[in-house]
Amino acid sequence: MVETEKKQEKETEQKTVLKITDMDPKFKYEISKIPGAEKIMLCFQCGTCTADCPIARFDDFYRPRKLIRMTQLGLKEKLLSNDVIWLCSTCFTCIDRCPQDVGIAGIVRALRNLSVKERDMPVVFKELASNIRKTGYAYIIPGMRLKKREEQGLPTLPKANLESVAKLFDITGFSKTLEKEAT
Ligand code: SF4
Ligand code: SF4
Repeated sequence: MVETEKKQEKETEQKTVLKITDMDPKFKYEISKIPGAEKIMLCFQCGTCTADCPIARFDDFYRPRKLIRMTQLGLKEKLLSNDVIWLCSTCFTCIDRCPQDVGIAGIVRALRNLSVKERDMPVVFKELASNIRKTGYAYIIPGMRLKKREEQGLPTLPKANLESVAKLFDITGFSKTLEKEAT
């Protein structure tokens, strides 16, 4: 299939008709109670966040402005079941730019947390979490790379306090979440 046809197909998919039954009017209130997402209703859809979002530059569907609007409209199921909420890199550019101080990254975090609670977490995030639990680092650094650092005279990486990491996982309930995800 040529590139233009693929693009048209994707655009048609995205133009799905919304039904009133898809909307949960209480969703915006549910989200606004979550710390970091309190200002959801202040968004007036100017689009400044999307214009500067580095992920929106590379993905045809990821638009922070759209995520906020979908949340305001109560499209809970469509949001929580969509992998797009996991694309945000938490760079906070949108937070710096938003004229309404909406705190988009906090809202995306709230959506992710709800998605984990009610559904699942992408495998890559489970792996990152499990790496942090085991080593204190999101990525397991290969021994070869550590040796190379040493050869180049770079300082040794600090050792993580794994006891504190485990405690944090337990206190926040994240250990249970990961156990649930593993079953
Ligand atoms: S910049 Fe702020 S007000 Fe404008 S669309 Fe984004 S979240 Fe809404
Ligand atoms: S924090 Fe997320 S939504 Fe905001 S600009 Fe960065 S990648 Fe985009």
